[in-house]
Amino acid sequence: MINRIPIPRQRLTEVLRIEGMSKVFKHKNHSITALKNIHCTIYQGEMVAIMGTSGSGKSTLLNMLSAIDEPTEGAIFLFGKQANAIYQEPRASNFRKENIGFIFQSFHLLKDLSVEDNIALPLILNDVASREIQERVQQIMEKLGIAAWHKHRPHELSGGQQQRVAIARAIITNPPILLADEPTGALDFNTTNDILNLLVQVQKEQTQTILLVTHDPHVATFADRVLFFHDGTIVDSYQNERSPHDLDMILSKFKAVSRGEY
Ligand code: ADP
Ligand code: MG
Repeated sequence: MINRIPIPRQRLTEVLRIEGMSKVFKHKNHSITALKNIHCTIYQGEMVAIMGTSGSGKSTLLNMLSAIDEPTEGAIFLFGKQANAIYQEPRASNFRKENIGFIFQSFHLLKDLSVEDNIALPLILNDVASREIQERVQQIMEKLGIAAWHKHRPHELSGGQQQRVAIARAIITNPPILLADEPTGALDFNTTNDILNLLVQVQKEQTQTILLVTHDPHVATFADRVLFFHDGTIVDSYQNERSPHDLDMILSKFKAVSRGEY
């Protein structure tokens, strides 16, 4: 296999920067620190996998990045500019609408809507003209190989096809950031590879930035970079080299994280 020549970091466009982010959940008698002083920069067109044990703060981080929940401390910068006061409505919804596409393990499609209407939904919510919606939905369905299913309901499709619909819905507004929480967790091995290859294709063609949470080292090999979470902090990272060595490296680092060796 050919190693990719690494692009010097200074030539890359910074999409997302997280500075000093902490999250404490306060309960009656105790508090849980879910994130501890996270610092991280993600670049345009980069796919970053986030791996970590259960309860290490992965979902909490995605919730902070999508303004679903407010951090206790810290800031987010988008394209170098601080995203201010994004945790109050209606700003939170607008922030999500403009910047974030979501892909979930269980697809989260609306079961009473057809494939094309599911994909069109974000554009309808953005008041896009119906002619333009039609064109864009058709284009993306063809690109993602689901055009033949346009009138079908989600339950008539396979898991892999449903995830394709969900990806189409997530990228139809061209958000700078895609957040995927275990996107292949409900899929078999071959379909997992299909979906990951599709995400890589989207990443390349649209210089799409993707943050992908997974506990599967094979999935993490599709990313450019892997961040390892433990106990609310980033304890390690790995830059994939596109060699068979990647899987071993990710596996051994993840094992170390799982054993609490940090
Ligand atoms: P992961 O996604 O890595 O499994 P989470 O981000 O869901 O982990 O959780 C990190 C920690 O924060 C866990 O200890 C969890 O119990 C706690 N936590 C997450 N959400 C809440 C919440 N809404 N209220 C209280 N504690 C929470
Ligand atoms: Mg989680």
